[in-house]
Amino acid sequence: MTHRPVKRAPDNITFSEIEQIASEEIACLDLFERMRFPTGLRCAACGAAEAAGHRFTRHRSRPGLFTCGGCRRQFTITSGTAMHRTRMPLGQWLRAIWLIIASSKGISARNLSEMLGVTYKVAWHLGHRIRAMMTDESVVLSGVVEMDEVYAGAPPRKPHGGGPSGGRSGRSPRRPLVLTMAERGGPVVFQRIVSHSINAIQNASHNRISADAVVSTDALPAYRKAVAGRSHITVKHSAGEFVRCDAGGAGIDAHTNTAEAVHAEIRRAVIGVWHWISQKHLDRYLDEISWRHNRRKVGHLRRIAAVLFAAGRPLPVRALVNNGVA
Ligand SMILES: [Zn+2]
Repeated sequence: MTHRPVKRAPDNITFSEIEQIASEEIACLDLFERMRFPTGLRCAACGAAEAAGHRFTRHRSRPGLFTCGGCRRQFTITSGTAMHRTRMPLGQWLRAIWLIIASSKGISARNLSEMLGVTYKVAWHLGHRIRAMMTDESVVLSGVVEMDEVYAGAPPRKPHGGGPSGGRSGRSPRRPLVLTMAERGGPVVFQRIVSHSINAIQNASHNRISADAVVSTDALPAYRKAVAGRSHITVKHSAGEFVRCDAGGAGIDAHTNTAEAVHAEIRRAVIGVWHWISQKHLDRYLDEISWRHNRRKVGHLRRIAAVLFAAGRPLPVRALVNNGVA
């Protein structure tokens, strides 16, 4: 039997290819250098760049360490990233990031621990440090933007014998409420809100939706005032209506199908993969879902580079854990 390679996008990479690179530290460093400095080394301290003719020293005795030709300061390929001063082999970072960015529904800490051969606690922490770099804080939505709310935590456990606090329906106040904003054919943004009030919806949405967008929601009265000033079209779910054709003119239909499809992604991840997520870490899980959704057409290598080298500072253990794991 012959094995023919599967056709894939040129910017994608398979786990077996990741495994080959991850098994050699030097290959990881080489990949990271090409990701971080695609046009040659650049010093973060003084701005000197190889591309502008500055000479950098590559230290043979310690691959990944460079001395800047401009200011003579030393830096490494991991300086200023979450991997800075990490004790974990770079190959483990690479494997973990691939598993998280390439899995369509996310991956549980237990699975990550089994795949990487590390303890649950190490896997849990690694997952959160990677998740912390998956943020899209500056995304502003335009075009047709659907807005809808969802309860994003796992359903509350039923107490023995039922009772008035027994979570009669899905609208228990103990479950965190999230406002979903989804641009049709574009990115999504999640914002936690404390209630369905006009203020809460307005505060969560006014910076994330451009002024000329057409906003499509269901007929919840708070939306009308919360999006005042923008074009607004509605569909009346309570009357059994799911699409109001051409409500916005120019062939724009009022519906919230895009937002609802994203809610299904949240449910699959929260219930199917993570099983239960604490309110404390909910934002980070939501960031992971929206980050991956917003890059669904971007290849693996660019996603890995975005996680490692586009975002902020390393997340220390103490920022994650106050009272033990979870
Ligand atoms: Zn420099």
